[in-house]
Amino acid sequence: KQLTKEEILALADQMNVRYVRLQFTDLLGVIKNVEIPVDQLPKALDNRIMFDGSSIEGFVRIEESDMYLVPDRSTWLVFPWDAPQGRVARLICDIHLPDGRPFDGDPRTVLKRVTEKARAMGFDAFNVGPEPEFFLFKLDESGKPTQEVNDEGGYFDWAPLDLGENCRREIVLTLEAMGFEIEASHHEVAPGQHEIDFKYAEAVETADNISTFRLVVKTVARQHGLHATFMPKPVFGINGSGMHCHLSLFRNGQNAFYDESDELGLSQVAKWFLAGILAHAPAFTAVCNPLVNSYKRLVPGFEAPNYVAWSARNRSPLVRVPAARGLSTRIEVRSPDPACNPYLAIAALLAAGLDGIERRLPLPPAVNRNIYIMTEEEKAAMGIRSLPENLEQALDEFEQDAVLREALGEHVCRHFIEAKRIEWNVYRTQVTEWEREQYFVMY
Ligand code: GLN
Ligand code: MG
Ligand code: MG
Ligand code: MG
Repeated sequence: KQLTKEEILALADQMNVRYVRLQFTDLLGVIKNVEIPVDQLPKALDNRIMFDGSSIEGFVRIEESDMYLVPDRSTWLVFPWDAPQGRVARLICDIHLPDGRPFDGDPRTVLKRVTEKARAMGFDAFNVGPEPEFFLFKLDESGKPTQEVNDEGGYFDWAPLDLGENCRREIVLTLEAMGFEIEASHHEVAPGQHEIDFKYAEAVETADNISTFRLVVKTVARQHGLHATFMPKPVFGINGSGMHCHLSLFRNGQNAFYDESDELGLSQVAKWFLAGILAHAPAFTAVCNPLVNSYKRLVPGFEAPNYVAWSARNRSPLVRVPAARGLSTRIEVRSPDPACNPYLAIAALLAAGLDGIERRLPLPPAVNRNIYIMTEEEKAAMGIRSLPENLEQALDEFEQDAVLREALGEHVCRHFIEAKRIEWNVYRTQVTEWEREQYFVMY
């Protein structure tokens, strides 16, 4: 709900707020904040708080280092944890240049721009429902994360009434206290792995929620002597962590993906959108799976997608169409992982889908067979491509995708690609434990 400046000041007073965090995310999706004492809040609400953008990842352009934080007054939230000196609240901010224009390098601004494009095409809401997964690892005596998970549980297990279960329960309670509507929360397939699903919302709100969610999960885990990680594949040989995204477009309060007269119950808009997602999948992978490590997850055998295909029956492909229809009609994109910058990832997915609508891309046939047992010839005959196998391939695809580049904007693309190429090159030259084990003695 959009609050006025006066309402926020009154709430801060009523709730004994002492500090306010002005929160935003850098290009890599890491939360940054400028903390101000509450007496600076009126100034913040007048958009007069400045910071030096030159030291923030992806904001680099020395001549533009003075940036303004522009709080979104609908994001006012008081953190529920106890603080003896008074409570801490936060406001999520957009970044503006000194001349008042929104800053092109601000991921939230980028996402807003793509949603405006959807609005111009007649869609008043792009709804996104995420399913973030994460691992809980034990901390050692000195408070450093170990590689030891804290339970032996498995998918939907009832049993592991242990540290992890209690911790997850408290994460859910904390999120609820902060206004999240939690739809499901369960143990995932791997030991120490959990999933918490919260209710879909419009794109920008969901991206805000994802970054707040990550903060809450990490904070509560710490309080339980655990380390929460959203690293996509923390342990070799077991499932990694994904963040499936359920997507739908709304028009005049109606789900624009639903058409009861269609054989599948899907509208033409849904089919075009889905075709756009498939067409741009190799390219948006760089944004939705932005780490070297992301590609260790996108391999066969661990419930993560590695082929570009869709199905209404099968659970394993890149895009699944869940059975629900009517207002709940949606597509589920299964490749994104929880290490992505949620603003950029959602912007890329939306831009891909909108392009499918604009160009009326034909939807390739559903693949209801097990792709993993198909031969190369069969896959080629059905036009089934693979997702990029590593960060470098993904960056190559992204670089060549004019639609996504235009959607994310020149500033973001240039800095993102540059930072990620460096990351890849540093990784590429490492000598790993695996190599030593394989070669050291034998050669
Ligand atoms: N962990 C799996 C992934 O990497 C998803 C498992 C599931 O939710 N069925 O995407
Ligand atoms: Mg799930
Ligand atoms: Mg899951
Ligand atoms: Mg899912």
